[in-house]
Amino acid sequence: MDCPKCGSKTRVTTTCHEFSDHVRRYRKCTACHHKFVTRQGFEEIQAPALRNKQVFQPADILEMRSLWLQGRSSREVAEIFGCTTSWVNKVVKRKVWVNV
Ligand SMILES: [Zn+2]
Repeated sequence: MDCPKCGSKTRVTTTCHEFSDHVRRYRKCTACHHKFVTRQGFEEIQAPALRNKQVFQPADILEMRSLWLQGRSSREVAEIFGCTTSWVNKVVKRKVWVNV
Protein backbone atom coordinates (compact mmCIF):
# COMPACT_ATOMS: atom_id res chain seq x y z
CA MET A 1 0.00 0.00 0.00
CA ASP A 2 1.50 3.30 -1.09
CA CYS A 3 1.06 6.60 0.67
CA PRO A 4 -1.99 8.47 -0.69
CA LYS A 5 -0.15 11.75 -0.25
CA CYS A 6 3.30 11.16 -1.74
CA GLY A 7 3.15 7.62 -3.16
CA SER A 8 6.01 6.31 -1.05
CA LYS A 9 6.08 3.01 0.75
CA THR A 10 4.16 2.78 4.00
CA ARG A 11 4.36 0.45 6.91
CA VAL A 12 1.68 -0.93 9.19
CA THR A 13 1.94 0.42 12.70
CA THR A 14 -1.05 -1.37 14.19
CA THR A 15 -3.37 -4.08 12.93
CA CYS A 16 -6.73 -4.14 14.61
CA HIS A 17 -8.73 -7.39 14.48
CA GLU A 18 -11.52 -6.42 16.83
CA PHE A 19 -14.08 -5.96 14.07
CA SER A 20 -15.94 -9.01 12.88
CA ASP A 21 -16.26 -8.04 9.24
CA HIS A 22 -12.98 -6.33 8.49
CA VAL A 23 -9.42 -5.78 9.63
CA ARG A 24 -8.25 -2.24 10.23
CA ARG A 25 -4.64 -1.33 9.60
CA TYR A 26 -3.02 1.84 10.79
CA ARG A 27 -0.29 2.80 8.39
CA LYS A 28 2.44 5.37 8.36
CA CYS A 29 4.32 6.65 5.36
CA THR A 30 8.06 6.04 5.61
CA ALA A 31 8.79 9.24 3.65
CA CYS A 32 6.35 11.99 4.67
CA HIS A 33 5.04 10.33 7.88
CA HIS A 34 1.45 10.76 6.79
CA LYS A 35 -0.79 8.46 8.82
CA PHE A 36 -3.85 6.75 7.47
CA VAL A 37 -6.07 3.77 8.06
CA THR A 38 -7.02 0.99 5.68
CA ARG A 39 -9.83 -1.46 6.09
CA GLN A 40 -9.60 -4.91 4.65
CA GLY A 41 -12.97 -6.56 4.28
CA PHE A 42 -13.74 -10.20 3.76
CA GLU A 43 -15.28 -11.20 0.51
CA GLU A 44 -16.30 -14.57 -0.72
CA ILE A 45 -14.83 -14.96 -4.13
CA GLN A 46 -16.53 -17.27 -6.52
CA ALA A 47 -13.96 -19.50 -8.10
CA PRO A 48 -15.66 -22.05 -10.35
CA ALA A 49 -12.34 -23.11 -11.88
CA LEU A 50 -11.26 -24.54 -8.54
CA ARG A 51 -13.97 -27.16 -8.82
CA ASN A 52 -11.83 -28.70 -11.45
CA LYS A 53 -8.78 -28.54 -9.20
CA GLN A 54 -7.06 -26.27 -11.64
CA VAL A 55 -6.84 -22.54 -11.63
CA PHE A 56 -7.35 -21.03 -15.04
CA GLN A 57 -6.46 -17.59 -16.23
CA PRO A 58 -8.82 -15.64 -18.49
CA ALA A 59 -6.37 -16.28 -21.37
CA ASP A 60 -6.81 -20.05 -20.88
CA ILE A 61 -10.56 -19.70 -21.09
CA LEU A 62 -10.31 -17.71 -24.30
CA GLU A 63 -7.94 -20.31 -25.73
CA MET A 64 -10.33 -23.11 -24.76
CA ARG A 65 -13.24 -21.44 -26.53
CA SER A 66 -11.09 -20.63 -29.53
CA LEU A 67 -9.92 -24.25 -29.93
CA TRP A 68 -13.47 -25.49 -29.52
CA LEU A 69 -14.75 -23.03 -32.13
CA GLN A 70 -12.03 -24.26 -34.51
CA GLY A 71 -13.70 -27.65 -34.40
CA ARG A 72 -11.85 -29.44 -31.63
CA SER A 73 -14.03 -31.65 -29.52
CA SER A 74 -14.61 -30.96 -25.85
CA ARG A 75 -12.61 -34.10 -25.09
CA GLU A 76 -9.60 -32.86 -27.07
CA VAL A 77 -9.72 -29.45 -25.43
CA ALA A 78 -10.06 -31.12 -22.03
CA GLU A 79 -6.94 -33.19 -22.71
CA ILE A 80 -4.95 -30.15 -23.79
CA PHE A 81 -5.85 -28.27 -20.62
CA GLY A 82 -5.84 -31.24 -18.27
CA CYS A 83 -9.41 -30.76 -17.14
CA THR A 84 -12.66 -32.64 -17.52
CA THR A 85 -14.87 -32.69 -20.61
CA SER A 86 -17.83 -31.43 -18.62
CA TRP A 87 -15.76 -28.46 -17.51
CA VAL A 88 -14.91 -27.60 -21.12
CA ASN A 89 -18.59 -27.83 -22.02
CA LYS A 90 -19.42 -25.37 -19.28
CA VAL A 91 -16.73 -23.00 -20.49
CA VAL A 92 -17.73 -23.05 -24.16
CA LYS A 93 -21.43 -22.80 -23.36
CA ARG A 94 -20.64 -19.87 -21.09
CA LYS A 95 -22.07 -21.42 -17.96
CA VAL A 96 -18.83 -20.42 -16.22
CA TRP A 97 -16.42 -17.57 -16.84
CA VAL A 98 -19.35 -15.64 -18.26
CA ASN A 99 -17.47 -12.33 -18.14
CA VAL A 100 -14.49 -13.52 -20.18
ZN1 LIG B 1 3.88 9.93 2.15
